[in-house]
Amino acid sequence: MSAARAQRLSELVAVRELDALLVTQITSVRYLTGFTGTNGLCIVGSEGEARRFVTDFRYLEQAEAQVQGYERAQGKQDLLGEATEGLAGRVGFEDQHVSVRQLARLEELLGDRAELVSAGGLVEELRAVKEPEELEAIRQAATLADSIYDYLVERGLTGRTEREVVIDLEHQMRERGAEDPSFPSIVACGAHGALPHASPRDEVIPAGTLVVVDMGCRVDGYCSDCTRTFATGPLDGQMQEVYDLVLEAQEAALVAVTAGAQEPAVDAVARDLISAAGYGEQFGHGLGHGVGLEVHEAPRLAPSAEGSLEAANVVTVEPGVYVPGSFGVRIEDLAVVGENGPEVLTGFTKSLVTL
Ligand code: ZN
Ligand code: ZN
Repeated sequence: MSAARAQRLSELVAVRELDALLVTQITSVRYLTGFTGTNGLCIVGSEGEARRFVTDFRYLEQAEAQVQGYERAQGKQDLLGEATEGLAGRVGFEDQHVSVRQLARLEELLGDRAELVSAGGLVEELRAVKEPEELEAIRQAATLADSIYDYLVERGLTGRTEREVVIDLEHQMRERGAEDPSFPSIVACGAHGALPHASPRDEVIPAGTLVVVDMGCRVDGYCSDCTRTFATGPLDGQMQEVYDLVLEAQEAALVAVTAGAQEPAVDAVARDLISAAGYGEQFGHGLGHGVGLEVHEAPRLAPSAEGSLEAANVVTVEPGVYVPGSFGVRIEDLAVVGENGPEVLTGFTKSLVTL
């Protein structure tokens, strides 16, 4: 698996006219080498044989078991000394991830024998197109999240605090086989739901409001991500109206998730509907994001995005409307991009459920 990925990266490195790429972003290192520790980096050359993996003393044994197809080296301090040994020519680095300090050290280590070249997100490009095994792990993570929503329906929301609900949901995830939640879960009622990234509070969830629940599970390293907005009793007219609007926008945009679709155009499907209803200013984030080993990765569905979707991308579709001081609504599904439309991985109902 990791050998095929490294081979695809070697080809990209050659296309960019680089001699080697230094990969320091730890999730990309995992993707390329299989290494699941927290300190490691790798070099992938334009020629298949020039591959090196460096980690520190703590992870030598783990690396021996996990990392095949790379020359393995033990590094000291920042690992860069060992990483740069023998490197020459045009050496790409991940400019989104390398710190100013690391760059200065690389320049010092390489001196005149190499030219450092900003290489953007080459590995992220590879990671965005999922292999069948990766899709299977994400499907499992999504199915697990569905079961957590079923559990939540049984347990209810009214009268519990946001924090109690989060602890309960995350405990259930682990009980049912998730490694972890894929990000800190959100349970936000009433006006708190108008904050897209709300942290759970010790506030009791009252009757007659909306509650935004956003969570995901991690299975075999891969994430899922799903938001539902629940009612805790009869709603006022505006809450119901906004719920219906967000649902309409979400369903319309989901249909547009297909190979070849321009990323900003997919975003616009939802945004135009929400703007036409007068809530454009209250939809302040992008429509969605890629999901994989990280819960936010390429591609991006947003007005400022520049690419087009490819088959086997995995993306969220999550429009929201946030009425400050009052309430928020977000509805989020996870989908695999297909040649003729999406495979929707989220199974839990999008009809308004009252708990
Ligand atoms: Zn989410
Ligand atoms: Zn999301």
